[in-house]
Amino acid sequence: MTVAPGRGCPKRMTYGPCGGVGPDGSCEIAPEPCVFLDDPIVPWAGAASARGPGAAGREFRALMRRRPVIVAEMPTVPLDVRSIAETADVMRGTVDAVTTGDSPAARVQYPPAYRALLVQQHGLPVWAGLNCRDRNRVALEGEIAALAHAGVVAVHCVTGDHPESGHRPDAMPVFDLESHELVPLARAAGLLVSVAESPAAPPVTHRAGRLAEKVRAGAQICLLQFCGEVEDVAAFTDAARRAGADIPVLPGVPLIVDEYGAALMSSFAAAVLPAGYVESVRRAADPVSAGVEAAVRYARALLTVEGVAGVVLGGAPDPGSGTLLARALAAVGKELGAGR
Ligand code: SF4
Repeated sequence: MTVAPGRGCPKRMTYGPCGGVGPDGSCEIAPEPCVFLDDPIVPWAGAASARGPGAAGREFRALMRRRPVIVAEMPTVPLDVRSIAETADVMRGTVDAVTTGDSPAARVQYPPAYRALLVQQHGLPVWAGLNCRDRNRVALEGEIAALAHAGVVAVHCVTGDHPESGHRPDAMPVFDLESHELVPLARAAGLLVSVAESPAAPPVTHRAGRLAEKVRAGAQICLLQFCGEVEDVAAFTDAARRAGADIPVLPGVPLIVDEYGAALMSSFAAAVLPAGYVESVRRAADPVSAGVEAAVRYARALLTVEGVAGVVLGGAPDPGSGTLLARALAAVGKELGAGR
């Protein structure tokens, strides 16, 4: 384990805990308690930019006011422009935007702004992921400027997983900044800015207040990690609002279409799936149809929760089954009324 100086957080965080705290309070990458576990919420101590988003962000926000937005992960083969084109052909017009985020199984990706341009060339609006693991503040500022120029609808600012939790543990962890600090930089560049929160990760009583501090830093939307039943999402959005985080929330909706996805989605430390969700797909004679039906049902229920302005569909494709997952994501998106 790479232990940083100071408090000992391997990700050098000030505004911890991150979303990777294990159910028993252990650190994301070490068999030791998270160093922030018993601390009070760390208040945001920096400045916040009040700049509004550019044209793409404004249009997306206007759409979000008219109806729930349906965002989906885009299951492409890393560093493969043909895969981007093929997946875009399947998903175009079926979702309102695609996320181009991180993957523990494929840490090496095209740089965020280049990836966004490649996807957008095929007619899919991009909600770009940006993490602090692989780039220092200078490189992040360059990416933010490029993402603003590329006209992405939003940027998702996260601290990111530690390299030891993915397939490139040989890489040096950077963590020059963390999500709270990335937010005002992205706002100042005229981007619509989202952040993540994991309501089921310990200490669960701090998660709503922690989101409120990110809002004080300038966050405008929250993308939620899978956190269980609809009632759990409702309880979190209510607690967040009372803590001062009165921003649109987009909970995650797992889409499981095969055993690979079922096993992987059940293994995420900070993620809790609704009771029976995985089993209902595993038992089905046609797991793809069952997965689509489960996702549509769960998404519709989430969209009745006050404060929920849309959903983010996510799945885990077996290497080689990305197109199958893309078709399933497209089916869910269409069923939920995206792209109309
Ligand atoms: S769980 Fe996250 S915030 Fe806590 S010590 Fe580990 S890396 Fe740092």
